[in-house]
Amino acid sequence: MPDVEMTCVQCKEVFAFTEKEQEIFYERNMMPPQRCMKCRSKKAATGENAPTRFEIVCDHCGKHDTVPFQPKVGRPVLCKECYQANKSRVRFA
Ligand SMILES: [Zn+2]
Ligand SMILES: [Zn+2]
Repeated sequence: MPDVEMTCVQCKEVFAFTEKEQEIFYERNMMPPQRCMKCRSKKAATGENAPTRFEIVCDHCGKHDTVPFQPKVGRPVLCKECYQANKSRVRFA
């Protein structure tokens, strides 16, 4: 199996999911990693206290972003920018 290029869900950097790692993951029946080595070691260092980020697609501009809460199905989710814009629009309306 060749190395696979993966995009880290945390820092969005592309990292290599190496052949050797793939073997280990598939052997243990684990999901492929979602984070690069840097973020994985950072996560290990901070433990489980780090907030979980959920990947969303902005309902307004279609941009991919992460939010610190579980998005509700059927409810529009906004990226940070649209959320901020939306908030100030409501405030000044
Ligand atoms: Zn990363
Ligand atoms: Zn947006």
